[in-house]
Amino acid sequence: MAETVVERYRKTRPGSWARWERACRVIPGGITHDSRYLTPFPLYVSRAAGPRKWDVDGHEYVDYWMGHGALFLGHAHPALVEAVREQVSRGTHYGACHELEVEWAERITRLVPSAELVRFTMSGTEATHLALRLARAYTGRPKVVKFEGHFHGWHDGVSAGVNPPFDVPMSAGIPGGVLDQVLLAPQNDAAALARLLASRQDIGAVILEPSGGQCGTYPIDPAFLMEVRRLTTAHGVVLIFDEVITGFRYAPGGAQEYYGVTPDLTTLAKIVAGGLPGAAVCGTRDIVGLMAFGDDPQWNRSRRVAQNGTYNSNPLSAAAGIAMLSQLADGKPHEAANARGAELRAALNDVFRRAGVPCVAYGDVSILHVSLEGAQGTKPKNPALYHQWRCALMLHGVDVSAHHGWVSAVHGEREIEETAEAARRAVADLQAERAF
Ligand code: PMP
Repeated sequence: MAETVVERYRKTRPGSWARWERACRVIPGGITHDSRYLTPFPLYVSRAAGPRKWDVDGHEYVDYWMGHGALFLGHAHPALVEAVREQVSRGTHYGACHELEVEWAERITRLVPSAELVRFTMSGTEATHLALRLARAYTGRPKVVKFEGHFHGWHDGVSAGVNPPFDVPMSAGIPGGVLDQVLLAPQNDAAALARLLASRQDIGAVILEPSGGQCGTYPIDPAFLMEVRRLTTAHGVVLIFDEVITGFRYAPGGAQEYYGVTPDLTTLAKIVAGGLPGAAVCGTRDIVGLMAFGDDPQWNRSRRVAQNGTYNSNPLSAAAGIAMLSQLADGKPHEAANARGAELRAALNDVFRRAGVPCVAYGDVSILHVSLEGAQGTKPKNPALYHQWRCALMLHGVDVSAHHGWVSAVHGEREIEETAEAARRAVADLQAERAF
């Protein structure tokens, strides 16, 4: 019998295999981000440029991971490389304020409709943590409404209801007392949210991904977003848009510009820091302003919202962030990325249709989702099938998560053609293994 795709993957990537075995001795499971879990072993990459990357065994890939969505201008964009090179020799941490953080915040306030004030963190996880703290301090109410299937990072306070079954949190080790602060609601069901908000007085915030859960895996109804805005305003509840993915991607001003719905608070990460670590919370002056010190010691000690963080708005991330935001402010990169995104989805659907397999590619703007089970708006139910698909695509020169991809502004027609060809071969491999 012919070798399976997984056997071929194992045989052709000895360098990755060796590194993973070494990693397993010092890193749990050998990986440092849960999404890198892959059997028989994950890929080890040594270099990347533009829309492509190369593994340690010398294979070239069209890349749709794109720094988990951070690299909107592709790998090692010259303007970003130059900004970081220029800054690194001037110092990476001053233990002091610096002008770049001011410029970075100014640019965010110019682009993002809800941003009057900006405070920096280092990751999207920290940003949602801080946004919830601000909302609770502002309203004096502890409970948070979160939607089923929405992901807001890995801290305890947002670990409920991420993946089905929604009554099981995304991790072990989360105290029941923390989970009790989160009220889960179904996405796209405005009546359910209306009932929930009317039924209790202790809700301080509603947080959501404006693309729909898990960057649009569960597509959102724009009318629902408007209704959420109306209901939260009516109940005096802080509305938080988690724009870690959508920020600067859906439009220069993010999903709030794209849908014309302005939240009270916004969390930003990924694109905001130009591919370096960095994130932000921004929003109205009266809420984000709760972080400012004043003359009253009582205020400073017990009513002010506190935040520290050694690397907040460090000069290197600020330099990269400024370079990124200045490149995308005019919306030109979005035109390119969105066009390629639409071409990619159409090309994959064409491959699926011709091969007669029940798969579908979908997504908004420059985001790709794939359901190999033909069920748009659901999470994979047959993980083995996605695993084969992912390995087969890598064999044919494409690295993409099994069901999402990020298209950058530097993916060209050549990359889309190569990806369609890789998908044709991958589908044929899976058909040969009777995977469908
Ligand atoms: N919110 C959303 C919507 C995300 O997609 C992510 C990460 N993919 C996060 C928060 C967490 O961001 P980070 O990985 O920077 O902690």
